[in-house]
Amino acid sequence: MTAGINRLQVNLENVRGRMAAACERSGRPRGDVTLVAVTKSVGPEVADALADLGVADIGENRVQDAIAKSREMNRTDAVRWHMIGHLQRNKVRRALELFGLIHSVDSVRLAAEIDRVAGPQGHVMPALLEVNVSGEERKFGLRPEETAEVIREISAMDHISVEGLMTMAPFGASEAELRRVFAGLRALSERIASLGIPRVRMQHLSMGMSQDFEIAIEEGATMVRVGSALFV
Ligand SMILES: *Cc1c(COP(=O)(O)O)cnc(C)c1O
Repeated sequence: MTAGINRLQVNLENVRGRMAAACERSGRPRGDVTLVAVTKSVGPEVADALADLGVADIGENRVQDAIAKSREMNRTDAVRWHMIGHLQRNKVRRALELFGLIHSVDSVRLAAEIDRVAGPQGHVMPALLEVNVSGEERKFGLRPEETAEVIREISAMDHISVEGLMTMAPFGASEAELRRVFAGLRALSERIASLGIPRVRMQHLSMGMSQDFEIAIEEGATMVRVGSALFV
């Protein structure tokens, strides 16, 4: 385990260093970009070790797995939990028990369920809207052209607040295609921000994973979701 933690620390320092370099290349302050460490492939002891190494944001893509993992952790309260996978409406109640930010809201119906469940708790749930920028068929996510209207509808709900957008780049895409996707999400975010929809603050762009987080930062990401690069 000691060797494992040393390895984890080296990988984490490597990712943080690459994030800092990407910020510098693009003239952005390092504090602009948050590392969300995606722990879906590792156990609670590794997630605890990440928290001990100063990682404050943990991402998971399945509600039940995340809750089970968090219960076995000592440091679960030291981190903010990010829901990054597709969220079914029947899992919303459990999701709200743990997650501090949902990156994957992709319909008015899902947002309405979050609003309904959060309401009695007097809670306003921060959320990002997942957008399918690349247009791949199998992906979840809103079409870019419908996103502003969906946000307008969600902005009328009292217990969910839209804080930005999220996207997944196609697997194995070329650098040019990655840049097109990430720049497309950023342009969409700026366009929506310019509409001045009440209560909507387009402050986050969640984009970039192990293979492409540096490019995503260069194109404006404020949150990168990195898993495998931490656990090689
Ligand atoms: C697994 C996952 C990640 C992290 O992917 P890596 O390639 O392991 O960095 C990021 N975002 C989502 C939505 C994921 O499911």
